[in-house]
Amino acid sequence: MTRSSELFDRAKRVLPGGVNSPVRAFRAVGGTPFFVAHAEGSRLIDVDGRSYIDYVCSWGPLILGHAHPAVLEAVRQAAQRGWTYGAPCEAEVELAEEVRRRMPSVEIMRFVNSGTEATMSAVRLARAVTGRELIVKFEGCYHGHADGFLVKAGSGVATLGLPDSPGVPAALASLTLTAPFNDARAVADLFREHAGRIAAIIVEPYVGNAGFISPDSDFHPALRDVCDQYGALLIFDEVMTGFRVAAGGAQERLAVAPDLTTLGKIVGGGFPVGAYGGRADLMKRIAPDGPVYQAGTLSGNPVAMAAGLATLRETNRPGFYESLEQKTTRLLAGLERAAQRHGVAITAGHAGSMWGVYFTAGPVRNYADAKRTDTALFARWHKAVLARDVFLAPSAFEAGFVSSAHSDAEIDFTIEQLDAALAEARAR
Ligand SMILES: *Cc1c(COP(=O)(O)O)cnc(C)c1O
Repeated sequence: MTRSSELFDRAKRVLPGGVNSPVRAFRAVGGTPFFVAHAEGSRLIDVDGRSYIDYVCSWGPLILGHAHPAVLEAVRQAAQRGWTYGAPCEAEVELAEEVRRRMPSVEIMRFVNSGTEATMSAVRLARAVTGRELIVKFEGCYHGHADGFLVKAGSGVATLGLPDSPGVPAALASLTLTAPFNDARAVADLFREHAGRIAAIIVEPYVGNAGFISPDSDFHPALRDVCDQYGALLIFDEVMTGFRVAAGGAQERLAVAPDLTTLGKIVGGGFPVGAYGGRADLMKRIAPDGPVYQAGTLSGNPVAMAAGLATLRETNRPGFYESLEQKTTRLLAGLERAAQRHGVAITAGHAGSMWGVYFTAGPVRNYADAKRTDTALFARWHKAVLARDVFLAPSAFEAGFVSSAHSDAEIDFTIEQLDAALAEARAR
């Protein structure tokens, strides 16, 4: 019996499923999770002493890898000055200025403690500004676990949403309309049908929570147009893509300016931080400037702000994003060669260092396509990959991440393991 399985047994007696976030339990791929003892650079080391090359990177925040020395030093120094004040501090201003410099559409922002808080607050603001109640989201997009987002499509794009989870009031779920990703016509139909009632579209500009899906080049410009035409707001949920797919996030890469942006993950450097922001005239409606209430005991936490700031400063180094993109391209090219050699159909994609692979000939343009991929093969492959000391997200519907701590040698080692694991998974 390993120490991880002992801990997992104990965990299951005191935590739902033994975890504090569901996918960590490995249910989608079978098997049980390893428990982490420590982490450094590209590696996680479990309580049994096994070391894994980590492509989960805490589900996105760790663009510099684990325990980066510059972030560690910033955290240490900040903590020495006390770790929560309940009063403003300089680091909040510095981080906000850095975010605005990198994302000019985010003129004013509010820091919160998670991506979930950011998206729910952005939607509250959009509803307040427009005086409308409906929102549009896309099937397979994840915007945190607030009630209004736990909604999938019923049959047909214009169908009112049905709650995805018990506990979500049907009345609330009915305010969320859904459409397939990459289907601008379905969105236009929703706006026609519910004219004057839609407050906002919220979208992951590159989908990372249904596996990885790229937008068609005309998709986001079409969303921008339909929002402008009907007086609705466009919210880019950049919790995952922000400072990941480019220095200025997806909005820079796609050259589309949203009205509001939500951030999380990288902006906190691995500490609990989220943010929402956008046009000054909109953000002026947030309390205490305006009537839209939103608050937080630990919001703008000085240690978390220091971690976010130190992380963003490291990513400002010349060539940082180019180098990450090259490593990711190399990883996926290796995987594609392996798949071809083993006669396995895959569809791999990436934006910067955010990537994904589906077991299908593709193309994968939306959630329905993603759900038709071979998840059983993925589960066998995941298990074989893990046995070879490489940690991929334990679900076919999650993105992977490369960090600046991943060396070319580690990428090449990974390709060999992914290749061998593919042969094993296929043979079974
Ligand atoms: C992770 C994520 C969230 C939720 O953030 P939490 O910090 O987990 O609450 C929201 N939106 C997107 C796009 C995400 O990837």
